[in-house]
Amino acid sequence: MKRLFLGMAIAGGIIVFLGLVVLGSTLWHPEETETRTLGMLLTAFGAMAVSVPLYLEARRIQSALNKSKQDLKRKGASRCAACGEDVASFLCTSHSIGLCLKCIPDHHDPARCLYKPVLQRNSASSRGAKAHSWR
Ligand SMILES: [Zn+2]
Ligand SMILES: [Zn+2]
Repeated sequence: MKRLFLGMAIAGGIIVFLGLVVLGSTLWHPEETETRTLGMLLTAFGAMAVSVPLYLEARRIQSALNKSKQDLKRKGASRCAACGEDVASFLCTSHSIGLCLKCIPDHHDPARCLYKPVLQRNSASSRGAKAHSWR
């Protein structure tokens, strides 16, 4: 598919070039309106043949970019280390694992565990969040 696009773009470029050559040759022969029309048609057709694959390629790249962005988002939301199903809303800083609200009571060790809320949306503000004891 990509090779086809490239071929189309190259062929389009050649057609544009031919069209310009034909157009240029009519500069000294203003009476040859048919040749000039042909040159214009060739140029326009060639430009289209170039822009269609470029447009499609740009669309493809854009959708690929969007997809990788979505993947990143999915990865960014860390899962609960205990059940692996819910999004971790607290981080045990002593054990450095993320836990959901359901699993915190199971994991909790009053002597050791310290929790910090996991802020999914704005990671910059999580620096301001103080670690607090779950006691
Ligand atoms: Zn959980
Ligand atoms: Zn812990």
